[in-house]
Amino acid sequence: MPVELISGDEAVRSNAAKFALGKKAVIVTGRSSAKKSGALDDVTAVLAELGVEWVVYDRIMENPLVSVCYEGGCFARENGADFVIGIGGGSPLDAAKVIAAYAADPELDAMDIYSAKLTKVLPIIAIPTTSGTGSEANPVSVMTIDGKNVKKSVKSPLSFPKYAFLDPKYTASLNNKYTVSTALDAFCHCAESYLSPKSSEVSRMFALHGAKKLYDTLAKIEALGENASLEALKPFRYDLMTGACAGGVAINTTGTGFNHPLGYNLTLYHGVPHGSACGAFMGEYFAYNLKTAEGEKLIGELCAWLGQTPEKVAADIVKWSNVSYRFDDKTIEQYIENVKGAGNYKNSPYVINVDEMRAIYKKLFQ
Ligand code: NAP
Ligand code: FE
Repeated sequence: MPVELISGDEAVRSNAAKFALGKKAVIVTGRSSAKKSGALDDVTAVLAELGVEWVVYDRIMENPLVSVCYEGGCFARENGADFVIGIGGGSPLDAAKVIAAYAADPELDAMDIYSAKLTKVLPIIAIPTTSGTGSEANPVSVMTIDGKNVKKSVKSPLSFPKYAFLDPKYTASLNNKYTVSTALDAFCHCAESYLSPKSSEVSRMFALHGAKKLYDTLAKIEALGENASLEALKPFRYDLMTGACAGGVAINTTGTGFNHPLGYNLTLYHGVPHGSACGAFMGEYFAYNLKTAEGEKLIGELCAWLGQTPEKVAADIVKWSNVSYRFDDKTIEQYIENVKGAGNYKNSPYVINVDEMRAIYKKLFQ
């Protein structure tokens, strides 16, 4: 994995020289997270010390649109940026990767990121302010296609960040709801990766390590109650951040399973945060995979490592996801249509078909 992961307190300020990647940076971020987390102040202080110029593109929304990233790429190019610093949750980090491609190549049209035309990418630094996606450790960007309400991933080996700076203090301003939902995303990455036929001894090691940290920490956060203060969450930030990063490393080898595409509809149509949308399907994910000998073996190993039964793990993840909706048949058909083409279904021991997708939605949401 080519990303240099630099973790610990004051990771940015203690490694200032690494930010001399060019003459001018475009800082890609959302509306407030870079400022609230303190990461923007640390980064601009370091750039100023080094005499590196910067411009800020802070228009990245949750589940970023291709068009907004394309605009960000044009903005970066017009401003002469020669490297990209993504600061934020998975949305700005994913956006930073495609902005680095648009900025590097004026010939690249918005949808060309999904083609072999993506051949140049500016150097990228990733600074997470959530503990969830693991985007800092992989070359994946999940974009929302304009006008279609569909999420589609792009993965180019060119899009690995050069450096990722992991400082848990940048997540200290994340509220309870997003702390839990991003941790659920990370747990899903670990579980889906562990079961993937593409997993390796090494990716499974990362998946187990991340799953244990995340599951145990989520249980402790539950014990604090729904209204846990930022102060009360502070002791858990380090384990969440390193657990999520481990999940990011694991899915770098394997990709994710069916929780991800099935969850996209909940996010895009109902605003359910990404991690809770994935976690809502964990009971079904275990149930289908337990139908195979391989799934039974892997789920058994994973849950034994967590010191729990598969029933308890799945029930906890579903409970913490806290998703409750009712959809009619027509809506369910539309939702299946949106996600049935995803590659993720093949990525687990049991491969669900369209009828089974329908059965899952009906069981959970009717
Ligand atoms: P996010 O969409 O980046 O951010 C969620 C919300 O949290 C935003 O409102 C954001 O504010 C806020 N926020 C972020 N950090 C904060 C902080 N420290 N303090 C206060 N507020 C903060 O959430 P995410 O769950 O990390 O990312 C989800 C996206 O990543 C989805 O699009 C998903 O599909 C994608 N994803 C990517 C991968 C991958 O491997 N690359 C894997 C899984 C998911 P701002 O609006 O101000 O930023
Ligand atoms: Fe995810």
